[in-house]
Amino acid sequence: MPATEIYLDANATTPVIPEARAAAIAAMAGDFGNPSSIHGSGLKARAMMDNVRARARRVLDAPTGELLFLSGATEGIQTAVFSALTSLRSRQDRGEAMPELLLYGATEHKAVPEAIHHWRRLLNLDFEVLAIPVGRDGRHDLEWLRRQAPRAALVCTMAANNETGIISDLDGIQRALAGSPALWMVDGVQALGKLRLSLGDRPIDYAPFSGHKLYAPKGIGMLYVRAGAPFTALIVGGGQEGAMRSGTENMPGIAAMGAVLRLLEAGEQFQRADKLELYRARLAAAIREAFEGVVFNADPEITLPTTLNFSVPGVSSKVLLELFDAASIRVSTGSACGAHKAAPSYVLSAMGLESWRSASAVRLSFGPLTPPETVDEACLRIRQCGASLRDSCMTPSVQQHLLPMEPITRHVVDGAVCYVVADPASRRCLIIDPLPELTDPLVQWIRCCSYTLVAVLDTHSHGDHASSAAALWDSLPPVLGRQGETEPLGWPSGSDHIQLGAQRLTRLPIPGHTRDSAAYLLAGPYGLRAAFVGDTVMPGALGRSDFEVSEPLQFAGSLRLLERTVGRDAFLLPGHDYEGWHACTLNTEIAHQPLLSALLDHSMEAAAFAQAKAELERDLAPTEYQTMACGARVDRCSKAESVELTAAELASRTWAARKILLVDVREPYEQRLGQMPDIGTHVRRQAVPLSTLLSVLPDWLDLDAGTDLVLLCRSGNRSAQVARALRRLGQPRAWSLAGGLALWPTERPQSVPG
Ligand code: PLP
Repeated sequence: MPATEIYLDANATTPVIPEARAAAIAAMAGDFGNPSSIHGSGLKARAMMDNVRARARRVLDAPTGELLFLSGATEGIQTAVFSALTSLRSRQDRGEAMPELLLYGATEHKAVPEAIHHWRRLLNLDFEVLAIPVGRDGRHDLEWLRRQAPRAALVCTMAANNETGIISDLDGIQRALAGSPALWMVDGVQALGKLRLSLGDRPIDYAPFSGHKLYAPKGIGMLYVRAGAPFTALIVGGGQEGAMRSGTENMPGIAAMGAVLRLLEAGEQFQRADKLELYRARLAAAIREAFEGVVFNADPEITLPTTLNFSVPGVSSKVLLELFDAASIRVSTGSACGAHKAAPSYVLSAMGLESWRSASAVRLSFGPLTPPETVDEACLRIRQCGASLRDSCMTPSVQQHLLPMEPITRHVVDGAVCYVVADPASRRCLIIDPLPELTDPLVQWIRCCSYTLVAVLDTHSHGDHASSAAALWDSLPPVLGRQGETEPLGWPSGSDHIQLGAQRLTRLPIPGHTRDSAAYLLAGPYGLRAAFVGDTVMPGALGRSDFEVSEPLQFAGSLRLLERTVGRDAFLLPGHDYEGWHACTLNTEIAHQPLLSALLDHSMEAAAFAQAKAELERDLAPTEYQTMACGARVDRCSKAESVELTAAELASRTWAARKILLVDVREPYEQRLGQMPDIGTHVRRQAVPLSTLLSVLPDWLDLDAGTDLVLLCRSGNRSAQVARALRRLGQPRAWSLAGGLALWPTERPQSVPG
């Protein structure tokens, strides 16, 4: 791994700079007094606090009004919204005529709409809540706002957006609100230290700020409240902060905030906007060079000079994040990338950008203290990231690498699985169950690897997605893919097998899930390697048979035929794998699925089987991806088993005495950028990307009894998935390195301003 981490996620949080750390430590050590105490220690603490407040007023141009210290921007937002709505509630109780709209920018931080909905509900207010639309440039639709302004009771507009850095047109908003009865909140979190807000010169009623976005610690924030703006305390008690926010003040946080504000005021270390723009331009140039076809999602003219948000066609946010992380550059995805589905960014969606742009968006943000050397090093590594993608055949470039494909590669989209079966000697491959989302990446990959595509097969007519076989054929140049006559699911007409080098694929009709369901059996010189069974048998479920095109009464016969043809130990590769089990066998499924056991072990009748199955499938809920479920799951609980091993355990004497096979399951584009940690001579290393795991599965299940298999990845998610899958298939000595490379102990530099 590259030795040092480059932190380019300053819009999420920043490191605490040495000056702020020193100030916080002083406030915890010698100057630990409580500012409410009237003795010397207390007076000293109060003086420090007053000093910081005065400094904050100067920095924010807020000579009048209140400036409260509180825990952060989320609390500031709550307090502001609660104050505004409480005052509206009182007016409503008094029977006054009222404006009736609560408005917030469509790209606002979630804390804002959540707070509005929450307090509106709790205060029993009958107001309409509307999102102020934004244009493609990410800025508020001022005409819309002007039209609503006379009916608006509260308007919330951020000063700058956290995902895109787009700066709101506060002057324009102010003009649109002229004459409006609305209270106005401006979320100043991302603007602090980067934009002049001139709070005192604007009719802004509330403005929350957060320390940890500008080199102070987490847990300290500020809220500006205009003189005369309605206020109701959210927290009451000892009457601190003029009884506007009770609770003993966070003095270390306030001291640290003060140190940052001092630097900001002095204007020495904080770099000017023109310099930051230069850094951003350098980073943008490196990104352009690295990623062909990249698009930037915000106009730099109206964006914070410290934020870049971009999308790379054909490459998901998740892949880009993994790539950057492998190069030890910390960035953030524009979309909320859960473990399962990458939810498109609501910010980019609100701007009306195409869905692919939200699905592949990455945010890179640095701080006003980032030194030029960090920018230079980041540019270098970004170029390496681009090279790694190109070398992994993941960019649209026409270059050819003649990369060998593994015998079986799998790609998963929202639980649906597509397989590429390849023969490296003849450079021929075929695809089973193509998915529309994969058309471009697969075409790119096949082209770049210079393989000939000989067939595109579907295991059945899918209920949840269309086959993309035709699109695949259309996109490949004729030398790499040629379509002869085929049957509806893609099988070459008149053939009884497809030869792929030494491997041979045959077809076995197994109607049930659908009338046309088929399994494809892959046999090598040493016998059957795997059966692609579509949705007929999945780990933990049998394919549902309640579609119009299903044959429920033939399902039992098909399962028996499958058993007779492939046996109970053959690997069955499913068309859907929601839980990441990768493969199953009839034996594993008999152990986990009572209905299958009743059929195959206890000769249940086909009709009784169909009836019991129909019971299971009644009212099937959609999957966690909100796609249609392909079968009723009966096997959820086996995930509880712990498979994790910490780095300390692995380094311990007990483990040092064992034979270990340490496997990096990250993908090649990540592996190219960094190596595995060094653990010791007892450790054998291997790199097996998760997508090609099926190629080594038989070896790993057959590992000699003295060897433990320890899997590692970036964060520990993928390796845990593989370890659990291996255990389910009968390998009890499979482990996952807890927290992955992210938690691997490395020496970190003491101070790296981000
Ligand atoms: N508002 C914006 C624009 C933000 O970026 C954030 C943090 O991500 C918040 C509010 C919430 O701030 P805090 O973490 O201090 O609660």
